Amino acid sequence: MPKQDDTPLMQQWRDAKSRHPDAIVFFRVGDFYEMFNEDAVEGARLLGLTLTARNNGGAAEVPLAGVPARARDEYLARLVQLGRRVAVCEQVEDPALARGIVRREVTETITPGTVLADALLNERRNNWLVGLADAGAGACALGAVDLSTGDLWAKHVASGDLTAELTAVEARELLCPQSWEGRPIAGAEDALTTFRPDWLFDGAVAAEELRRRYAVHTLESFGIGPEDAGLVRVLGALLAYLAEVQPMALAALRPPRLVRGADAVVLDDMTRRNLELTESLRGAAGAGAAGTLLSVLDQTVTAMGGRLFRHWLLRPLAAAEPVWQRQEAVAEFYEKPPLRRALRAELENVRDLERLATKVGTGRVTPREMAALGRSLQALPGVRTCLADAGAAMLVSLADGLDPLDDVCERIGATLADDPPAALADGGVIRAGWDEALDELREIRDGGHGTIARLQATERERTGIGSLKIGYNRVFGYYIEVTRANLSRVPAEYERRQTLANAERYVTRELKEWEERILGAEERIAEKEAALFTALREHVAASIPGLQEAADRVATLDVLASLAFVAERNRYVRPEVHTGYELEIRGGRHPVVETMMPREAFIPNDIRLDPEARIMILTGPNMAGKSTLLRQVGLIQLLGQMGSFVPAASARLPVCDRIFTRVGASDNLVRGQSTFMVEMQETAAILHGATERSLVLLDEIGRGTATYDGVSIAWAVTEHLHEVLGAKTIFATHYHELTQLADLLPALINANVAVREAGQDIVFLHRLQPGGASRSYGIDVGRLAGLPGAVIGRAREILRELEGTHTGSGAGLGRAGQYRPNSTPAPDQLSLFRPADHPVLDRLRRTRPETLTPLQALNLLAELRTHVLDDDGNGE
Ligand code: ATP
Repeated sequence: MPKQDDTPLMQQWRDAKSRHPDAIVFFRVGDFYEMFNEDAVEGARLLGLTLTARNNGGAAEVPLAGVPARARDEYLARLVQLGRRVAVCEQVEDPALARGIVRREVTETITPGTVLADALLNERRNNWLVGLADAGAGACALGAVDLSTGDLWAKHVASGDLTAELTAVEARELLCPQSWEGRPIAGAEDALTTFRPDWLFDGAVAAEELRRRYAVHTLESFGIGPEDAGLVRVLGALLAYLAEVQPMALAALRPPRLVRGADAVVLDDMTRRNLELTESLRGAAGAGAAGTLLSVLDQTVTAMGGRLFRHWLLRPLAAAEPVWQRQEAVAEFYEKPPLRRALRAELENVRDLERLATKVGTGRVTPREMAALGRSLQALPGVRTCLADAGAAMLVSLADGLDPLDDVCERIGATLADDPPAALADGGVIRAGWDEALDELREIRDGGHGTIARLQATERERTGIGSLKIGYNRVFGYYIEVTRANLSRVPAEYERRQTLANAERYVTRELKEWEERILGAEERIAEKEAALFTALREHVAASIPGLQEAADRVATLDVLASLAFVAERNRYVRPEVHTGYELEIRGGRHPVVETMMPREAFIPNDIRLDPEARIMILTGPNMAGKSTLLRQVGLIQLLGQMGSFVPAASARLPVCDRIFTRVGASDNLVRGQSTFMVEMQETAAILHGATERSLVLLDEIGRGTATYDGVSIAWAVTEHLHEVLGAKTIFATHYHELTQLADLLPALINANVAVREAGQDIVFLHRLQPGGASRSYGIDVGRLAGLPGAVIGRAREILRELEGTHTGSGAGLGRAGQYRPNSTPAPDQLSLFRPADHPVLDRLRRTRPETLTPLQALNLLAELRTHVLDDDGNGE
């Protein structure tokens, strides 16, 4: 709102700010971008700038913080990385020519989900802007666009799966209808949320937007049908929003893809994190990929391949057929190392075709990038040749459809000079011989240079001044320089222009004439080169869909070859992926942990889960390797469903509909909930989502509360999994009580990770063996970790006491009791499957208080008390 006492500059700022209330306005003032008021306070805090104040006429002062114009991109990058939106308000007229205050306009809005600058993008990750809309009947429509690659897709998502879907997309920015403000959206905590009016998500408006942007008459061209109303709404809204912030980029957008059905396994956030697929648990948030499955597995050589790899990893396939296809292709690359090497060598020459195509489309491509595009295309015939004898169906089809776009490639090669500069303005972009007019201009310019060199020789001769020389500078143009000692010989027609300490500089009419011809030619050369480059760009732009298609094929080949490369390097085998139930891994290894140890140091293990033994209770001392084993099974299953080979001697893997993991109390504290609450929510999600076809990996459920509560919950969860869900489950636990379940639940087996006691020491064998573990060795691990000797000694004392009190199956503190259904439990034993029928209870049940006199009642009370105290061994 304009304030009465505003200076004109501040009025202008307020005007810009009112149009972009949700952005930080970078307001250009001379050599700085200034931020004012609330923007200044926020900007100063985020960027570590000094907050000052600007006098705003009268007594008013407004907070101010600024960044130098030349460092603009650096600061923009930081703000965008922090999830902020920035509106750049430029001076749109030359201050020297402006009458009154310079006109300013917001020329671009930069947001995390719509950035295009290389510096702000991660080469090996997509940059998704995700739109959401209601799609009725407990479903949402989710649309995603990566402007940098032109990819746009949409799918229906059941509300219950939204969080998992959002996490898998790794959205940088969310676009939601205004009316959603205040609605919590889990799964996109790190994304900036942008709200736009609900009408942009209106069916008719959105459909019109789609038709207009893609110039189609009917949306059926995209395979959009009447059942896709929600998808249309979200796609239309995304396009409208892009048109607002990055209109140029719309040109390179691909037609929308509709993703139907459950093509992929949804990996929820906890599974993705627990299995350390793309981020390690130990590293600080966003610490990068070291120690993750991605870091070990992704050996792709192109940026596109890198992005696709991440995509495959986070979306294992939900059906066997496509898994087999990928496997067949990986197997061929695995079995034919020369083919794989040759292909990967060719692929190394392919730059980021996908993002280059977008740059062509948005007019941001530089001559050097255009040349890189040309060279990348040159590599494509080689890629096809490599695959000429390929047998795997997927490879054959990828190679067959790979169009090397010869016409585009030739045109780039013929038009561009061999090593063009990064900036068009530097000149020398267009190849000699491409354009006659340009060649002529260049001749004039170069001829001019030659003439000037000759002129120097003639002038030297004519004046007899041997040291006379012709030079050039920006201010005076060409000049003749004569040293002070020779001034007497300067001819009369020389006009003096500049005096230096030791020399004078002159011009002549002839020199100026040549200068004009040369400079005129330079100027026209620049114009000509720009026009020719634009024409080239437009020519290439017509083939953007072809470039994008080629990029997809290259990416897929790259990922397949990378999987084969890793399979050979890390000694993986092709698993038998089947549609049945059982999971059997022989000699399985953890793909990441094994790479951190000397070769052969990792101990492989066998695991089998089938209808008769579908739940495994995994016990074992601390540090034995339970979590590692659990994750290893999850990772092997996931790799199998991705189409990859797996770290094992052999494996038979079912196609699972979901993989659930709950491993330890991880770093969910960020959400500000109690650890136990989070643990229970995660468990609830598993129990609601798992089916017979799921793989459930649980570690230490119930640890975050009192022991009895914990054991009871763990027990009940296991029963539910066994009786109701039938999911294949491995449950790692320190509650040895759970091993008793093997006697009650027919399809439950016990296994433990072995250790050997060697005198005072324990040796971790990391080997899985049948049966429950006998001890926790927690104190031994405490000793290894360096707890003081006195504390260790006292802990052993307490343990002995507790074990004495709770003989049999103590409260998770002592030796595992071996419960047999027919044996009579000791009276104090924690009985988990049936409340103990204590004689006192029995007596109480039989008592009818209304028949008792007060004295009888008192006597009975005293008697019962004595009974209880006797049983506790606590008689007074
Ligand atoms: P806790 O109960 O304390 O959580 P844990 O039984 O889950 O322990 P892990 O964390 O899985 O134990 O493993 C402990 C250590 O043992 C890890 O550092 C790991 O490197 C190593 N380890 C685990 N499994 C193996 C194996 N199969 N071969 C070699 N080393 C292993």
